[in-house]
Amino acid sequence: MKKVVWTIEERCKQCYTCIRECPAKAIKVEKGQAEVIEERCIGCGHCVRVCTQKAKAVLNSVQATLVFLTQEKPVAALLAPSFPAAYSHIDPEKIVGALRECGFKVVIEVAFGADLINQEIAKLAKTSTQHQWQGTKRPIIASSCPAVVNYIEKYVPDLIDNIMPTVSPMVAAGRAVRRIYGSDMRLVFIGPCVAKKMEIQNSEVSDAVDEVLTFQEMEQLFNDLHVNPEEAMPSWFDPPHPFLGRIYPISGGLIRSSGLPYDLMDNEIIMAEGKQHVLNVLECVQNGEIKAQVVDLLFCEGCINGPFIDQNTNYFTRKQKIVEYAETRRERSNYAEWAQYLERCKSIKIDRSYHRQEIHSVRVPEGKIKEIFAQINKFSKDDELNCGACGYTTCRDYARAVHQGLAEREMCLPFLIENLKKTKFELQDSLRELAETQEMLIQHEKLASVGQLAAGVAHEVNNPLGSIMLYAHLILKELGEQNEHSGDLKFIMEEAKRCQKIVAGLLNFSRQGQLNLRNHRLQDIVSKMVEVISKQTLFRDITINVDIDENLDEIEIDSDQLYQVFLNLAVNAAEAMPDGGTLTISASTDEKKEKLTIQISDTGVGIKPENFNKLFTPFFTTKQIGKGTGLGLAIVYGIIKMHRGNVVVKSEVNKGTTFTIMLPLQTHVVTNEILLQ
Ligand code: ADP
Ligand code: MG
Repeated sequence: MKKVVWTIEERCKQCYTCIRECPAKAIKVEKGQAEVIEERCIGCGHCVRVCTQKAKAVLNSVQATLVFLTQEKPVAALLAPSFPAAYSHIDPEKIVGALRECGFKVVIEVAFGADLINQEIAKLAKTSTQHQWQGTKRPIIASSCPAVVNYIEKYVPDLIDNIMPTVSPMVAAGRAVRRIYGSDMRLVFIGPCVAKKMEIQNSEVSDAVDEVLTFQEMEQLFNDLHVNPEEAMPSWFDPPHPFLGRIYPISGGLIRSSGLPYDLMDNEIIMAEGKQHVLNVLECVQNGEIKAQVVDLLFCEGCINGPFIDQNTNYFTRKQKIVEYAETRRERSNYAEWAQYLERCKSIKIDRSYHRQEIHSVRVPEGKIKEIFAQINKFSKDDELNCGACGYTTCRDYARAVHQGLAEREMCLPFLIENLKKTKFELQDSLRELAETQEMLIQHEKLASVGQLAAGVAHEVNNPLGSIMLYAHLILKELGEQNEHSGDLKFIMEEAKRCQKIVAGLLNFSRQGQLNLRNHRLQDIVSKMVEVISKQTLFRDITINVDIDENLDEIEIDSDQLYQVFLNLAVNAAEAMPDGGTLTISASTDEKKEKLTIQISDTGVGIKPENFNKLFTPFFTTKQIGKGTGLGLAIVYGIIKMHRGNVVVKSEVNKGTTFTIMLPLQTHVVTNEILLQ
């Protein structure tokens, strides 16, 4: 079978409108592209009409028709009864004339085929009524709309036996033309319908018509052959001329033209047009809710609202055109001639069987649906928005389609929006983290160069300091305590000691100190320090809270150095709380026990943002001269780095400050390694 409808990939913009409109859900989305699934498609052409991107292509038969027209065999054009609605602005006689100019030897109204079928319908309706009375048979469903027939064969095959066992007007007309003009003819049907292109491929009726053109393709043909219908020589259709079959394309046309009695009050006949109504009626027929005798269904609100009818004119105007045309032609009809042609075509094969081509619906277990829902963040009934953005009416239908490989996760709009928001937040977080890391790197680099300088100075100063201490000591010893210069000498020695302390601090900062690593309990170091500081006047008005997990494993550290770190931070905290406050020391490990985190917080004055970058630089102090050396945090930094750890600070002015120290628990600490990395 030739493909009738397909997607032009580069035009498809993932709007899912075609899925929403497809009554057969015959569209599969793969990598964002909506693809028509041939075996599921019923050829109704709704997807073609609704696609604003013109991404749905329809099998084009213009070329094949052009070839026919250049060959020897005569070619007949069979014009669908909806043509007056499609060409409301052009006189029908000019259309016929234009077709003749194109080279069609015979131009016929398909409506005659409808007349042929009408005879059959009247007969069938009678027998069906008898069955109805016996309560054994449900209504007869008219077979004139191929999309309806395709839908039943594929999706409601239980109703196969209800389809009227007759061919369509197109097939009946085709066979009539062959009977009257000879079988050696090429027949081209011209109409509004895509499904007809499928119908002629069915082996049971493929003898009737050779090609199907849509009205749009007819225009293309006119263009290709430079035929202008508006300027064409008026001409009239060849016989057989139809009678009432001309109103077939409008809802109720079949009933009216077949002479079936239609009374609103007796519910014997049901007419429905348009996708949704048709589906509803079929469902009701299947459930046995409809007890009518005949059901006439047209998928496209009559054939005058199909995908290839000019949509610029109003639907009701188009309907009126059909009625007006049928009425004026009826007045001119030659009833006797019509009856003669009917008689001539009496033996034409009008009956036809329809067959199940069932598309089995897949039962999707509830567990699978839940699994798919979970992937699109739907965990409760409230999450099932049934917004329809994916093209499916309910979230459940969509989940079923995902399970069958017809839909993709990315089609769920609420999920996409949620994801987009999450990605945005994640991106913002990552950017912030990146900025922080960058800041830290710059800071570390700066400290590293200061460290190098400090280390150099400290080394150089250390030796002369030692000499000063030594000689001052020797002179003091020589002169004796009672000497008038002994006070001066002691002062020299004290000042030299102070310098030595500073030098030691600098060496610590630049990680030139020695680490004496042993396993220690952190709790012990902190307790010892708390015991000492709580006796000091600096801590008089300060509440000290210690929150350290008693079960913390021992850790390999230099306890004296760490003591120094905690002491420096505690002293700073106390100095930041001159009017009292709370000092909290807490420690915990992460789940994998890879890292120990120690926090020292205060409720003090806080640190101004502009000072953040200078905190760990040696000699940075905001304290009065003589009060602060500005070495406390530099030492903290050096010691923590020597332990391969890290120290960060968070602070809010007038609220407090928290220093967080992170120490690795698993890697071994190496001393005297290269200066600050
Ligand atoms: P010093 O204490 O000698 O000034 P530090 O290196 O210990 O030197 O501290 C440097 C500076 O960092 C301090 O002068 C102070 O401005 C700021 N600082 C340190 N810790 C705190 C804290 N807990 N609260 C507020 N400011 C602090
Ligand atoms: Mg300090």
